[in-house]
Amino acid sequence: RSAVEFRDVRFGYERGDGGGRTQVLHGVSFGVPARGLTAVVGPSGAGKTTLFQLIERFYPAGGGTILVGGRNIETLPLDSLRGLVGYVQQDSAAMRGTVRENLTYASPDAGEDDIRQAVEMAGLSKVVANLPQGLDTELGDQGSGLSGGQRQRLCIARTLLQKPAVMLLDEATSHLDSDSERDFRDVLQRVSRHCAVIAIAHRISTVIDAEQIVVLEDGRVRATGRHQDLMTRD
Ligand code: ADP
Ligand code: ADP
Repeated sequence: RSAVEFRDVRFGYERGDGGGRTQVLHGVSFGVPARGLTAVVGPSGAGKTTLFQLIERFYPAGGGTILVGGRNIETLPLDSLRGLVGYVQQDSAAMRGTVRENLTYASPDAGEDDIRQAVEMAGLSKVVANLPQGLDTELGDQGSGLSGGQRQRLCIARTLLQKPAVMLLDEATSHLDSDSERDFRDVLQRVSRHCAVIAIAHRISTVIDAEQIVVLEDGRVRATGRHQDLMTRD
């Protein structure tokens, strides 16, 4: 069974001038397996973020159906939906304390084992005592902050503690060096063994080994498949 299924999903944003809606999604259909990475790629403005917002019921779809865990999200209580879908909030201002403190603060009821597992899955074991923002220079210890990639992975670890069935991830647009990108790919691989991961990817190199790549253009699915399948099409 698919973790998420889009069936002919349509959506338009209401125009500011009261002149109706601007259609953004024109009948999007695809399924997301319960495990593995599904990457959504496509040019800016294609509707990728809108898809995420519809899964979360941030807006009601304007047509078609979205199923999460086999259930129509329209009839799922919002609490249940929030329990199933974890959205990785990037660059949250709410980072305080060390990596470990950050996680216990975000999920006060999480057990020690859960925290350790989230830290390991996010590839943060070596920096678990570091402060996201680093220490003040007057303390003479600039070395104990987190890199941009590690901060992004801390956001993933926080979401993991919610034990979502589906994780939504918008790849940071900020530049990741090649080491950070490799770490990020490793994390995606590990996390996607535990839940369905849907990632908006800005660079194909990040998701080259995805189970499925969905190419979205102008609110339509142009192609789906693994990277090698897509490469042999024209
Ligand atoms: P992507 O994530 O692929 O860049 P988006 O889903 O953000 O695409 O946007 C799809 C289209 O919808 C774009 O044309 C964008 O300008 C428009 N759009 C996005 N958000 C809004 C909004 N809140 N109100 C009106 N139009 C929007
Ligand atoms: P950009 O295209 O500049 O990367 P996005 O269109 O991805 O920006 O996101 C616009 C804003 O919407 C951001 O502040 C982001 O945090 C928020 N956002 C993106 N995806 C979601 C989502 N699934 N649910 C709620 N907010 C989201």
